[in-house]
Parts: sequence; structure tokens; C-alpha cells
Amino acid sequence: MFGRAPKKSDNTRYYDILGVSKTASTDELKKAYRKAAIKNHPDKGGDPEKFKELAQAYEVLSDPEKRDIYDQYGEDALKEGMGGGAGHSPFDIFESFFGGASPFGGGSSRGSRRQRRGEDVVHPLKVSLEDLYNGTSKKLSLARNILCPKCKGKGSKSGASMKCPGCQGSGMKISIRQLGPGMIQQMQHMCNDCKGSGETISEKDKCTQCKGEKVVQDKKTLEVHVEKGMQHGQKITFPGEADEAPDTITGDIVFVLQLKEHAKFKRKGDDLFVEHTLNLTEALCGFQFVIVHLDGRHLLIKSAPGEIVKPGQFKAINDEGMPMYQRPFMKGKLYIHFSVDFPESGSLTLDQCKALEAILPSKPSQEMTDMELDECEETILQDVNMEEEMRRKQQQHMHEAYEEEEEAASGPRVQCAQQ
Ligand SMILES: [Zn+2]
Ligand SMILES: [Zn+2]
Repeated sequence: MFGRAPKKSDNTRYYDILGVSKTASTDELKKAYRKAAIKNHPDKGGDPEKFKELAQAYEVLSDPEKRDIYDQYGEDALKEGMGGGAGHSPFDIFESFFGGASPFGGGSSRGSRRQRRGEDVVHPLKVSLEDLYNGTSKKLSLARNILCPKCKGKGSKSGASMKCPGCQGSGMKISIRQLGPGMIQQMQHMCNDCKGSGETISEKDKCTQCKGEKVVQDKKTLEVHVEKGMQHGQKITFPGEADEAPDTITGDIVFVLQLKEHAKFKRKGDDLFVEHTLNLTEALCGFQFVIVHLDGRHLLIKSAPGEIVKPGQFKAINDEGMPMYQRPFMKGKLYIHFSVDFPESGSLTLDQCKALEAILPSKPSQEMTDMELDECEETILQDVNMEEEMRRKQQQHMHEAYEEEEEAASGPRVQCAQQ
């Protein structure tokens, strides 16, 4: 049935087909088959021959007995043992692997029972900017349901189950409600006795490990690889690692990266931004300082000789931004945004002012005659906190609008145009 005649006593080909080592665990085999079978499925334009080979290899290696024979005596021995090599159809193997439904959605097209897909389990995963810059891996221990290993998810010792008497095996119950004379409402809901499965297990026959629940809790440690350059909100998926349930395709565990804010650096795409405050002397006469980068390197930042930095000015350093995802050797820019601290007002003496005026650009000429000055009005400059000022004005405005509305409501109705 599987065409191609293998070399005699070849006992590595199946491993090669799945791309796993000879010591691969059941989990590794499953993962390898899952990935390759979906990729090579003829429904998805894959090579039917390759798809067959995958199913054949998986069928043998996933069965400890067959795998043992294969490891010892190779493919030929196995074919004799299996009675002329009549294995299962690759589609059957594929569908039973996915619990009888197509992983492409829409259930099975080949007549087996339609199955639910288990829910994905989503966990946020907090990461620092350092983690995303350097890459890291985090080990996380999660509790999840697995099919009870003792009864293989049957829930009973005998493997048998009875039709649920509550719903006659349909899993659904219909209740009828009288709405009025001659009017009834029929409602269908899940049977509570069997939780929709349509089956029950007699008390005596219940599996001792899972007490008939079919699943037991298991601890699993997952190693999440956070790669360089990953983004806030990016998902890392572990396919088929969520809660197992009978007749259900196991959902995925999905980690969603949550970037913790960094005290110093801000990230925008592949670029990093850092704030730096210079004092006036540094801004005018030059500066030199150190930025400790996200990987601990010390970057020396210094101005060019004679250069003046203005408040709000940006400067950039190439290739010191974030590494790009999946191209970590390429990096964005590191932008430095400069603020300039001026000296506290009133701290200069008259002599100091004179000295500064001698160096700095001269004041704009405002030559005024005494007569002109006489015509001017004297003013007094006050210090204000502008934010405070604006907040007060807004509150005042809101208060007035409210009063106007009050008036409008009591007096003749007038459309209030102010929002
Ligand atoms: Zn029931
Ligand atoms: Zn059990």
C-alpha cells in the first residue's frame, strides 16, 4: 500500500521522514508529525506521497511495540508482523491524531464524529526592555488538565460507558415553558448530568485515578524563548499544550508579551529614546557623559569641540537601538533628547552679567530716547506656573457653563451651544 520498497532492515528512515532523532520522545514525535502533516496535507496542496510516508512513520513510531520492532529489525520485519504491510489510510491516521476533526477548521469531511476544539489558554508574560534587547528564556510551570493516563480519558475501569439517562445520550435536554395560553417555548440546553457528553459511568466502574472525570491535573514546565527584538503584545504559541479533554482537539497555550516600562529608555519600533539634561555650561561649552546600555555596555557620549546644544534638540547614534526581530544583527537608532537646565534666576551679579555680555551675542539694540520712555507705561512682571494657571481657567469655565445650563433649564428652553 505504501509504494516504495524500503532497503532491507532500514531502521532510521522513519525517524528521518519525521526529522527527529532516534531517541525522540512521544511528545517530540507528536510535534514533528503535527507540523509536517499539516504542511504536507494534500488538501493544502501538499505532496500525497510525502503525506503517506509521514503517516506511516508516525503510525509506527508512536506505538511503543511497533517502534521497538522497528528499532531492532527494521521496516521489513514490521511489515511481515503487520500482515503484508496493510496499514491504516494516512487520512485516518491524520484525523485520529487531530481527534477526528480537520485542523483546518470545519470538522472532518470524512464522516468521523465532529469534534470541538479546546480553548486556547492565554497568559500575559511580563518582560523587561533588557529581555527584549538581549533575548532571554523563561521557565514557567503551569497546571493543566490532561487525559487521565490510567483510563486513557475513558473515565471508567472497563472502558465502557452508559447512555446518560438524563438525556438519552444526546447530551442536550429540552425544556418546555408555557408562555401564555396556547403558546409554549421550547428551549434546548446542555444536559447537566453528563455535561453534554451523553454518557455516564456507573459508580462502581469509575476510574480510581480521575474518579470518572476523564481528566487529571498535571504540572508542566514550558520554556518560553523570548527572542531579541520581540515587541510588546507579540504572541509566543505552544500548539496543543492547553487543557486536554476527551473528544477535543487540544488548544494552544499562548503567551502575550507585556513590556514593563523602563526607567531610562523608551522604545519606538526598532529605535530607543533616552532623555538627557545638560546644564547651561555643558550646553554652551561641551559635555561628556556615559549611558549604560541595556546589555550593560558603557557608551561614552560627547559633544564635538565648540558645539552648542539647544534645549529640545535630538541627537542619534546609529546601531545602538533595538535589535530587529529575527535579524538581531541589525539595530535601530538610539536617540538622545536634550533638555537644558538654566541657572536659577537672579543668581548673577552685575559684574557677571557684564562678563557674559562680553562673550555672548549682544542684546538686540533698543535705543530709546528719554522722551520715548516717558510715553511708556510701567509694568510689573509676575512669575506664573502656566499649568496651574490653565487648570484654574478651565475649572472656572466649566463652572460658568454649568450655571448657564441651570438658568436655561429653569427659564425658557434655550439650546446650549457650548459643549
Ligand atoms: Zn446527559
Ligand atoms: Zn481515569
